[in-house]
Amino acid sequence: MLLGLQLGPGLAAPQPAALPLLQGLTLLLIAFIAYSWCLYPPAVPLLLTLSFGVALLWAAPRLPQAGWGWHATALVSLSALAGWLQQTRGLRLRRLARAVIDIEEEQGVKQQALVKAQDVQHALEYKLARYRRLQLLAEELGSLTEAPAVAQAAVERAFELIGKSDTCLLFLVEPGQRELALRASKRREGLTPIRDKHGDQFDRHALRSHRPLLVADARRDFRFTAPLNAERIIGSVLACPLLIGGRPEGVLRLDAAQPGRYNQDDLRFLDILLDLVSTAMTNARLFAEAQQLAKTDGLTGLTLRRPFLERLARELARAGRTREPMAVLMIDVDHFKRYNDTFGHTAGDAVLKTLGELLRSAAPPEAALARYGGEEFAALLPRATRAQALEIAEQLRHLVETRAVEYQRGKAAAVTISIGLAAFPEDGRADLELVRIADRRLYQAKHQGRNQVCGL
Ligand code: GH3
Ligand code: MG
Ligand code: MG
Repeated sequence: MLLGLQLGPGLAAPQPAALPLLQGLTLLLIAFIAYSWCLYPPAVPLLLTLSFGVALLWAAPRLPQAGWGWHATALVSLSALAGWLQQTRGLRLRRLARAVIDIEEEQGVKQQALVKAQDVQHALEYKLARYRRLQLLAEELGSLTEAPAVAQAAVERAFELIGKSDTCLLFLVEPGQRELALRASKRREGLTPIRDKHGDQFDRHALRSHRPLLVADARRDFRFTAPLNAERIIGSVLACPLLIGGRPEGVLRLDAAQPGRYNQDDLRFLDILLDLVSTAMTNARLFAEAQQLAKTDGLTGLTLRRPFLERLARELARAGRTREPMAVLMIDVDHFKRYNDTFGHTAGDAVLKTLGELLRSAAPPEAALARYGGEEFAALLPRATRAQALEIAEQLRHLVETRAVEYQRGKAAAVTISIGLAAFPEDGRADLELVRIADRRLYQAKHQGRNQVCGL
């Protein structure tokens, strides 16, 4: 500009003294243009370089003493250098920016993988905790020998371990029956007690199908009619059959008011839990059977002496409280030694077995019947007066007398029995006292000629 103003066609040539100033300003401008390569996008310095270069080319022939050619060379060289530097820097920056983008992308991917891995870890920790508690449950169930205790532990633990539930119920099919019966329950605090003691459509479905059942939304599941129980809203259900020896013998079921409470993992977990419960139930039943066997006489199926005396003590305490009568019979086979000697021990055993059956058929269902020892039997008749007990004893005596027992193919012989009777409360109030009196009367019956009842 300055040059343009000073060297314009209408202007006079500058004074030689002003030349150094002009040259200095020109060099400053050149430096600024070179520096502008570093400040602005390339279009601006390029435009500046071109316009200033044209100005220099125009000024050079007019002011040869000013050395504008040298200035033009400096401008071109410096601009080229600055442009090159600028390009190199831009390239580096672009590379750097690309690298930053790449790193950010990689970081994003790694972050996602990390979140996923953390989720997996949490899920695994949750699973592990659940299975540890299953292990504890297995130990707990293994220590229980009574079926009701197993049932209660099963609902308590299922409720606690699956969580998310309003109620947990265990139904069992009673032997000889086809209906489910509620055996143990657990419910969230504040909920009303369960009124349906025989299960609903979900329990029956799980029992019939032999398979675990997951109902995500009870109101929408096409397999079931929408539950209309206003007292208890059922949104989701988890039910698993209790298979004992492959047979469905019950159902453990959880439910919640909200739909979508349970998932497949809960279902699998409940299935495993039911396996443990099934084993514990089988053990409890075997234990009960073993206990029953230990109390039972193998030949006749009647109770042995000790459990009979325990029952007698309990019945006496009850009769004392309720002021009800009660009677005890002591029964002995007449001349049994002779029978054994004549027909053999096996025939004698058959007689004892038959006697057990006859005793069962003559006595009322609530009676306790025992093989007291050898060929001696005892009967406890709750709520029977002396007269009623005498009638039962007489009926039994008659049954035995008229029932011939086969001792060889086609050959049979009958035996007779003698019975002694003691009545509560007239004859005594203590258990052993009653037994002693009945025993004494039994021997009285023997002395009076056998095949008779002695009740007084
Ligand atoms: P009584 O009329 O005075 O009672 O005469 P009894 O021969 O029945 O009485 P005793 O006490 O002399 O004999 C009882 C017999 O019962 C002796 C024994 O061999 C027999 N006995 C005891 N237990 C069994 C058993 O389990 N099976 C058989 N076959 N016999 C038995
Ligand atoms: Mg005898
Ligand atoms: Mg005897």
